[in-house]
Amino acid sequence: MSNYKLGLDYAKEQDQNDDLSHYRNQFHIPKDKQGNELIYMTGNSLGLQPKATKSYINQELEDWANLGVEGHTEAKNPWLPYHEFLTESMANVVGAKPIETIVMNTLTANLHFMMVSFYKPTKTRYKILIESDAFPSDKYAVESQLRHHGFDDKEGLILWKPREGEELLRYEDLEDILKTQGVDIALIMIGGVNYYTGQFFDLKKTTELGHKYGCVVGFDCAHGAGNVELNLHGSGADFAVWCTYKYLNSGPGSLAGCFVHERHAHNKNLNRFTGWWSHNKQTRFNMRDEFDVLPGAEGWQLSNPPILSMAAIKASLDMFNEVGIKKLTEKSRKLTGYFEFLLKQLGEGTIKIITPSNPKERGCQLSIQVKNADKNLHNKLTEAGVISDWREPDVIRCAPVPFYNSFEDIYILAEKLKSIVC
Ligand SMILES: *Cc1c(COP(=O)(O)O)cnc(C)c1O
Repeated sequence: MSNYKLGLDYAKEQDQNDDLSHYRNQFHIPKDKQGNELIYMTGNSLGLQPKATKSYINQELEDWANLGVEGHTEAKNPWLPYHEFLTESMANVVGAKPIETIVMNTLTANLHFMMVSFYKPTKTRYKILIESDAFPSDKYAVESQLRHHGFDDKEGLILWKPREGEELLRYEDLEDILKTQGVDIALIMIGGVNYYTGQFFDLKKTTELGHKYGCVVGFDCAHGAGNVELNLHGSGADFAVWCTYKYLNSGPGSLAGCFVHERHAHNKNLNRFTGWWSHNKQTRFNMRDEFDVLPGAEGWQLSNPPILSMAAIKASLDMFNEVGIKKLTEKSRKLTGYFEFLLKQLGEGTIKIITPSNPKERGCQLSIQVKNADKNLHNKLTEAGVISDWREPDVIRCAPVPFYNSFEDIYILAEKLKSIVC
């Protein structure tokens, strides 16, 4: 992968040779006021809209207009089983089995519902371990679970931290924590791909370590789903949650995904919060039956879901299904590797990439620290037509997405960065 070359011609040639390049045309690319396409680097925050999404949503609007309540059974894609149309493709995207996969609720809500079942503190084993740079919502969620069970949210929280002067987390340090405090830890809940550094954790290794010390292990894969090959089933994790509005291009605030490992699929004794949608489909509408939980991840649903949002997810998953996550990640590695190559030309003194340099330990995102930079740098980039993400104190996050970003995008971005920082 080190045979990248400088120059715009090289970037254009890479786009010509890329057999996924035509997908860019299947997305709406945001434009500036003059109508020029922006360099969109924030697919890690809100993925772009597939042009097909509108017709998927329109189908449901029409069926609702024409059929009213009958649409539950008579719509082209009947609403009663609508979530089932998403299960298999979503399972493929995250490397899970269909019985382990469900689209429901929103991300932080799913995280809480998973903790209702999988955070089972006792008097002596009640602590929760998370990474020190966890996404704020995840940290708030686990702290509130500690308080909910009557524990102190500071004393009960154990942080997996980078070493002094480092940004990335080391497994040796996780193991050290587990060796000394493992018996106190009920749950390990880690962001599968860290939102800040872009570090993609080895889910299998992390899970095996946690299980060895008797902890339950779950992941928040918001920055992993649609970005890296997660292989959730193979990881052995107890549960995972993710959203669909980032790399899964399903629209702002869209529904989230949830994974429950197959080994828990038929365990009716797992405590959980339930609703009519977790109840046996055959008798759900008898309305009076004693509760009879569905097997697998479906058994964690509560409500009948918002079909318009599911239609947007279906539009996106149909595209993922067509290409396959494997092929997408292959292109992603080339694209991000090229970005890294160009950034290195700017000089090690000016720019430091805090994301791991090993392509297996990251997704598409690079988190870039620019020497002596402040938010002004981000403002200048924005003025220059780049949509990127700024994190205080000095980090720019850029996420070239293989579905719609081109090598030319990366070339232009690097040129703009150069003219601003050098
Ligand atoms: C994006 C993101 C969230 C956002 O949570 P919502 O419930 O969808 O608002 C939470 N956690 C992580 C790790 C994220 O990346």
